[in-house]
Amino acid sequence: MAERSAGLTFRAVSAKAESLVEGIRIPLDHYIDGRRVGSEERFEVRSPIDWDSWKLAEVAGGGRAQVDLAVAAARRAFPAWAALGPEGRHEPLTRLAEAIDAAVPDLAKVECIDNGSLLEAMQLRVLPRAANNVRFFADFAVERLDEPPRTLPGGERNRVRYDPCGVVAISTPWNAPFMLATWRVGPALAAGNSVVLKPPEWAPLTCSMLGDLAAEAGLPPGVLNIVHGTGAGAGAPLTGHRDVDRVAFTGAPTTARTVYSDAAANLTPVSFELGGKSPFIVFDDADLDAAAATAAYQYDNSGQVCLAGTRLLVARGALTDFLDRFAARVQEIRVGDPRDPDTTYGPLIHPVALERVTGHVERAIAAGAKLAFGGHSLGGLYYAPTLFTDIPAGAEILRREVFGPVLTLQSFDDDHEAIELANSTEYGLAATIFTGSERRADRVSAALVAGTVWVNCFYVRDLETPFGGARDSGIGREGGRHSFDFYCDVKTVCERTALFSR
Ligand code: NAD
Repeated sequence: MAERSAGLTFRAVSAKAESLVEGIRIPLDHYIDGRRVGSEERFEVRSPIDWDSWKLAEVAGGGRAQVDLAVAAARRAFPAWAALGPEGRHEPLTRLAEAIDAAVPDLAKVECIDNGSLLEAMQLRVLPRAANNVRFFADFAVERLDEPPRTLPGGERNRVRYDPCGVVAISTPWNAPFMLATWRVGPALAAGNSVVLKPPEWAPLTCSMLGDLAAEAGLPPGVLNIVHGTGAGAGAPLTGHRDVDRVAFTGAPTTARTVYSDAAANLTPVSFELGGKSPFIVFDDADLDAAAATAAYQYDNSGQVCLAGTRLLVARGALTDFLDRFAARVQEIRVGDPRDPDTTYGPLIHPVALERVTGHVERAIAAGAKLAFGGHSLGGLYYAPTLFTDIPAGAEILRREVFGPVLTLQSFDDDHEAIELANSTEYGLAATIFTGSERRADRVSAALVAGTVWVNCFYVRDLETPFGGARDSGIGREGGRHSFDFYCDVKTVCERTALFSR
């Protein structure tokens, strides 16, 4: 049976795609034009906590047809949503932020089981940040987007308008799926655009819940659409779609190259937040206890953190003292079920991820690197914290993102060598420095190729300031006004006001 809605034909499916996880009902069909839309194809999702025996769900597997429906729905919804202005959008977006806040306990349980992230971290930090991603940009659009006009020498009034740009295509990864999706969805909607989101196929459950939260918040149909599917099946038709106006992609640099060339065919502007191989630099004047504790934290989320400082660079004079402290911290790491509050980190996301990590470790050993500890699976998708030392220059393990709990250690003799080592990869996402000297921190920060530099801290984020990466780590910056620079048609209006008669 087929039914029609807003001029579109949807094929009715006999059973809805949905799942029950910890008693929480999760709709897993696409969310298009304010309603759930099925697909002929489904794909399976398993929990990394117990991969072999824990099947979580079957999710609608979308393709070009569903992407076309979603983009068309977004295009239809765009003018009315844009016309509301920042003030008119503020209320529904605030309600969405509130709905996310209220759903944090459920979202945390589901995300923990879906992608293996720590339950406690999801509850206390990551998912509250998701609500803030929506609230912050809705507030910013109302309170601070307008800049005061300038009067030019000829008397003209020159002002900048941040107008909505249209339909935004968003494709995001699985390592913090809900938070990373809202980091793009929040500003895109606040700017007055409509959105089509393609969640990650390895952990799509919480992003699917976002559809119901949007409906609960009263977002008009078509303003936010969600199409599930693989990268090739649904992602590529979306990011290469002729009728999208912006492409926001978070993922791996290799995928980004395909997305970039597809978007280039339509000259669609892109914002890319990609991988990293970030340096973690410890100078000999640093607080070594703080440095070691923060270094051990780089194993967080089983190393599946784009920003992780996976290359430890330590001043030769501080090496022994640092290593003693670091080893003691690593001893305290408990790898296990992410629902257990005593667990430090949980499993890798997928057997393919385990294979990738294992391959990196084997090739590092074959290249002559010394395995200081770890380097083996702990059963299932759980992997031991791993450290390589004495690594031959140019080895792959020093250059390529592993995206697993694998760190490398190198030492340096002076600031110049530290900077040279830090900048020696094709990435440029983040860098962490531990030093007691403010002047050194400033000098080194200036020389590093990185979108974010943390000094004597790590992972602190302020939504006001720019976020992004250099080189293979990304294109563009988002955060505060930078997000609106991307999600808006920024235009200059130059007016000779003397000729206005009313
Ligand atoms: P990935 O590139 O394989 O996939 C990311 C998303 O893109 C998925 O939803 C996938 O289905 C989709 N996709 C694949 N092909 C596509 C295409 N042609 N068009 C559109 N979408 C497509 O990355 P992943 O393995 O899911 O995530 C890990 C990577 O993401 C790592 O490199 C990590 O560092 C990076 N990452 C970066 C940030 C950041 O903010 N810089 C944040 C998180 C993760």
